[in-house]
Amino acid sequence: MHSRTFAVAALVALTTSLAFTQERLDPPASGPEPLRRGPAVARQDSRTGEDGRINDRIRQDEAIRSQVMRTLHYLTDVYGPRLTGSPNHKAAAEWAVKQMTGWGMVNGHLEPWDFGHPGWVNERLSVHVTSPIKDALAVEAVAWTPGTNGTVTAKAFQMVLPEGPLPEPARAPEAAPNPNAPAARGPQRLGPTQAELDAYLALVKDKVRGAAVMVGRSVSVPVNLTPLAGRLTDEQARCRFDPNMVNAPECEGLGRGRGGFGGGRGQQPADGRLTTRQIDQQIDAFLVANGAALRINDAGRAHGQIIAFNNRTYDVAKAVPTVVIRNEDYGRLSRIMADGTAVEIEASIVNMTYPEGQTSYNAIAEIAGSDLKDEVVMAGGHLDSWHTATGATDNAIGCAIMMEAARILKSLGVNPRRTIRIALWSGEEEGLLGSQAYVKAHFGSAEAPKPEFAKLNGYLNIDTGTGRIRGASVFGPPEAARVLAEILAPFKDLKVYGATATTSRATGGTDSTSFHSAGLPGIGFTQDTIEYNSHTHHTNLDTYERVIETDVRDAAVVVAAVLFQLANRDAMLPRFSTADMPAPPPQRGGGF
Ligand SMILES: [Zn+2]
Repeated sequence: MHSRTFAVAALVALTTSLAFTQERLDPPASGPEPLRRGPAVARQDSRTGEDGRINDRIRQDEAIRSQVMRTLHYLTDVYGPRLTGSPNHKAAAEWAVKQMTGWGMVNGHLEPWDFGHPGWVNERLSVHVTSPIKDALAVEAVAWTPGTNGTVTAKAFQMVLPEGPLPEPARAPEAAPNPNAPAARGPQRLGPTQAELDAYLALVKDKVRGAAVMVGRSVSVPVNLTPLAGRLTDEQARCRFDPNMVNAPECEGLGRGRGGFGGGRGQQPADGRLTTRQIDQQIDAFLVANGAALRINDAGRAHGQIIAFNNRTYDVAKAVPTVVIRNEDYGRLSRIMADGTAVEIEASIVNMTYPEGQTSYNAIAEIAGSDLKDEVVMAGGHLDSWHTATGATDNAIGCAIMMEAARILKSLGVNPRRTIRIALWSGEEEGLLGSQAYVKAHFGSAEAPKPEFAKLNGYLNIDTGTGRIRGASVFGPPEAARVLAEILAPFKDLKVYGATATTSRATGGTDSTSFHSAGLPGIGFTQDTIEYNSHTHHTNLDTYERVIETDVRDAAVVVAAVLFQLANRDAMLPRFSTADMPAPPPQRGGGF
């Protein structure tokens, strides 16, 4: 690890002068890892004057002294996974503050906020099928569920829940229900009514006691024959972010106007029917009340990918030991049981809870400002992760990039006019909780501003994986996007194409929306997707290996430049006036 990082740095140092004239090479979408070479320094900035000189120095420092992969190594390999409230998360946050302080940053501290739930860690996990075959099963634990008390052996029982009808007009002709047919990823069924679910649970009540309960039919995941597009084409990125292209006819239909990603995980219930979440909570309560030994959920994804979230009550007494099993194992066990053959499962799970996790922490450190030090430019990402891998692309790398940008500026010895503040959030995965607590405590909102509200010049956020930065989106008037686009203009050789403005105050997706929601200038970077949505986001495969060093080093260069320019401009980033401020969206019910 370290030896490779140092070897790359030494090589880059030796070839820096040559590298100025070399063309950049994109790593292939797949295949063997390309020779990693110093990014960013590849071309000299074409602009003259102070801005151009600082950009050149930023590029050169990153080419020679990069620590971003070392930071990633610590946050993932050494401290991951970093579930909110867990000792791992706190240790990672402490390490990050110590590291930033070591680079010369000031005011490093952990800022507490009330998570309200204990921390949780899975320490051991071993689930096997012991009859009619003997084999290890690929599983992950669901967070905030209990462990088994030692090793338990249990007969498998598969619950085939009522699913309700297909929505009109897609309803297929009624066929005799085959409980063992795989549930295809077809049109979503409307879900059962409470009466239908109650009737089914009454029917299987005696079968779940002491059983390893497989919840639901196995999901049939079709083979994907469509190759994934890992990067935006230059045309797509230009059409989305280059201010000169915004109204170009050739951009019609090329991804313009797409904002953010994701949404809530819930779904709106059809009239009188239960949502997936409501059913899930009722099944948990039913399995606890009737003494099930183990709950097994189908991961429902290809290639052994497992996503395991949490017991939404955060209370281990309100669930039985629960695992998500890879789709291939769930399918195999389901098919064997469909033959009429009994299946026996053995499980040994050790989960720990930590009461002190009720208080969680955002990690903060600053580069002191000078004549405008009361005004602040912020950058951050969420340091917390899910627990089934080491949370590399979601989102150790976003944190590592922001830390690296600050490291570069300290290394150059610049004295910014405004204070630059790095914030590494926790509680993002549970609903943007850490950043929302911070915004509330420091800034308030446009409707109820605190004194610091007027002093925030912008908050930069990274949270979509390893891909290089292609553009930015800022909450504010069009002039704010123009300022950002101007700052980003010298980085077209790194394939960054500009910035757009958004007026949405809806929360969702990631921590920049906590700022948008308050009416503050949150700035989200759009990155090439690479393997994010297809492989790494929230999965058991989100590890150090999935990060592309050249991309994230380029990203650190871009962020460092934006931070420096925003900190030194005469004027703050243009904002909505009180009169122009978009209204906040209506309060959502339900939670995240
Ligand atoms: Zn994330």
